[in-house]
Formats: sequence, C-alpha cells, structure tokens
Amino acid sequence: MKNSIGKYAAHSCNPNMKVEAQNSPKGLTVQYVAIKDIDPNTTLSFDYCTTERRFAAPFECCCGAENCRIRIDGWETLPPAQKDLLSVNALPYLKEEDDNIIIDKTTK
Ligand SMILES: [Zn+2]
Repeated sequence: MKNSIGKYAAHSCNPNMKVEAQNSPKGLTVQYVAIKDIDPNTTLSFDYCTTERRFAAPFECCCGAENCRIRIDGWETLPPAQKDLLSVNALPYLKEEDDNIIIDKTTK
C-alpha cells in the first residue's frame, strides 16, 4: 500500500472506515471511505477481515469495541452470521469467492 493511508489505519471490530477497491487500466485503485462521522484525533480504522481472506499472522484484537471478535484471522474464518453483518463493508472478491465455494460444493 505505497502512498496509502492504509498503513496508518488500525484494525477495529467497530471501524470508522471501509475499504473500496476498483480495477482500472492504471491498476488497482484503493479508497478509504468513512462509514461514520470521525471526530478529530480519532484513530482511523477499518475491519481487516473485510479486505483479507486469511492472515499469515493472525492476531489478538485489543480494539475495545463491545463487538470485538478478539481473534482476527481473516474473512474465511468468520461464521456466516458475522459475514452477513460485515458484508456491506467487505471487498466484493471475498463474497464472490464464497459464492464460488458454495457452487463448487453443490456440483460435487
Ligand atoms: Zn476488536
């Protein structure tokens, strides 16, 4: 994420931003979009599980949110109900891959 605010944004289970990504002829464009009002001096955050399928290095979250999931391990480790809650902010490829996995299971 060269020249990106992503390297300055923390993970939170109750984030104030989401990530949007689009392919274009110039390459992948990544935008960080506020999903709630953000007061000055507030840590910018997004839910890392809405952008990554699986982490090479899972971690214990200390965001302090009421809905903190504690173990942050990537989209594929989330229970279906959690995915439903987060899907509005998740990158489309995560949901598309889930759909493909379901199709694969039904065709075998
Ligand atoms: Zn958390």
